[in-house]
Amino acid sequence: MKQKLFVLSMDAMVEEDIEYLKTRPNFQRLMEHCCQIKKVQTIYPSITYPAHASMITGCRAGKHGVYNNTKYPTEKTYPDWYIDTSEIIKVEDLFAAAKRAGCTTGAVYWPIMGNNPNIDYNVNEYFFYEKGEADTRESVRNAFRRMGANDDTLKAIDENFDRLPTERGAKSANLRLNQTFDHFIMGCICSLIRRYQPDVLVAHNCLLDSLRHRNGIFNDKVTWGLDITDYWLGEIIDSMYDAGVLDDTNFVIISDHGQMNFSRRLKMNVLFARKGWLTAGPNGKPTADSKVVSQSNGMSDSIYVRDKSLLKEVHDYLLKLSADGVWGFSDVFTTADVEKLYGWSGPFDFVVETDGYTTFSDDCREPMIAGIDLSDYRLGKATHGYRPEKGPQPVFVATGPAFRKDVTIPFAYTIDEAPTFAHILGQSMPQADGRVITEILA
Ligand SMILES: [Zn+2]
Repeated sequence: MKQKLFVLSMDAMVEEDIEYLKTRPNFQRLMEHCCQIKKVQTIYPSITYPAHASMITGCRAGKHGVYNNTKYPTEKTYPDWYIDTSEIIKVEDLFAAAKRAGCTTGAVYWPIMGNNPNIDYNVNEYFFYEKGEADTRESVRNAFRRMGANDDTLKAIDENFDRLPTERGAKSANLRLNQTFDHFIMGCICSLIRRYQPDVLVAHNCLLDSLRHRNGIFNDKVTWGLDITDYWLGEIIDSMYDAGVLDDTNFVIISDHGQMNFSRRLKMNVLFARKGWLTAGPNGKPTADSKVVSQSNGMSDSIYVRDKSLLKEVHDYLLKLSADGVWGFSDVFTTADVEKLYGWSGPFDFVVETDGYTTFSDDCREPMIAGIDLSDYRLGKATHGYRPEKGPQPVFVATGPAFRKDVTIPFAYTIDEAPTFAHILGQSMPQADGRVITEILA
């Protein structure tokens, strides 16, 4: 029997969480003789969609093309998440390598995998119905079908309808399982394993990220999330056991970024409006004729100078604000700077990096400094988007026939993950910036 690969990305899981999980029964059972990477450095910007594109392609953001979570900011589409693979990802991903190896493939809520031709069982990360569509069982099925779920995949989705959120979009700090897609996601993973045993299955769960945004990086709510995570791991172990694939599965838990607490949020767009470079539309978003617009990455901010005659003036203004030391950012990078330092590029012109205390909001309306609330997923008590060296770091822990047992190595990059997974499948990923982490392989 050939080896299976299961990769679970627990959004915003950090090294400290692994130490706690080592005391929980299912993680203990699963990862008793694991291999672990103590610190895994993500990319810049350290945000979910670019980071997951890097984890699945082995490339930095400038090469794979996902330069932000959402599309170029316009009045109409602001914010508008990337959904379809073909919409933005410019390089080969792990699924293409898996297909070369003759594997069956599955993905559950991995970002930007909509209609990916190399995924056999595709439950795309997708929260939206068509405008005017009623929230019914058929509309949910249609939404997933539009994003690439075939009839076999819909059978797995059908089995988990009772795990879909009944209170979507709730803003309370006391996040419950009926308010997120995470319980549904874990159910779909188990159904796909029991029904089809895909050779390569990747999945993405956001519970810890949501809890940290709302409550801060370490607290009892996050610990509750880790306890639920251990319960879910038990469900997945059981499904693998029932399907007869547990011993042959390479089981990997990774994450995309950490988080850091912050104490205030600042609206760069308000500064640009005060300079006369931006006009706020009636919905608080910049009008189409705005000359300078910012797009928040949480604890960094991308700035688009649409009127290129203003480039130098905007740059000088940002440098002056940075030198003042009170405007929430410590570094001003040009696109050329972040390309050289971090391999990040895109249609923006500048990036400002947090001073360590400040996060950025897209809002165009005064006052410039806003209170902290839960109106935006990036703006609760903790967030990410800062330079990848900062804060608690993402995780990598793995067990299975391809991995060495009881081995810990100190450091790797998230862009090393996809080439390493492809290597396990007997494939290489020639476009990847990362390397095969041979030290952890049996
Ligand atoms: Zn994330």
